[in-house]
Amino acid sequence: MKDKYKSLMDKAKKAAAKSYSPYSKFAVGSAALAGDGKVYTGTNIENASYHLTNCAERTALFNAVSAGAKNITAVAIWNKNGDVFPCGSCRQVIAELAPEADIIVNSANGKLIVMRAKELLPFAFGEKNLKQLIVKS
Ligand SMILES: [Zn+2]
Repeated sequence: MKDKYKSLMDKAKKAAAKSYSPYSKFAVGSAALAGDGKVYTGTNIENASYHLTNCAERTALFNAVSAGAKNITAVAIWNKNGDVFPCGSCRQVIAELAPEADIIVNSANGKLIVMRAKELLPFAFGEKNLKQLIVKS
């Protein structure tokens, strides 16, 4: 399974070269694979007002959704140090936009770590919670 994600990780690595990270110098790239085989990339985009920074995986997913992509099956995340897992905000966005996806991270030893989106954020808040709210009110 890990071999099939090597080219996706290569695209994530390439996306990191476009990182806009003048403050942290922490370049991250991401590539999201849609059900039709198309790949959508993204990089982290920082802002002098730090909290407005957008992570690479969110950029890739927003890029995919903006292009009309459906059924994201995998999201690769690359950083030169490796072992960079999605932050809490990205886990929530992944739970919304790519709940069935494999999430792939390059490790410090050069291997790929593959996990399921649901492993990243168990008991995620989602549409089901809003429906419960509507039913009870
Ligand atoms: Zn993030």
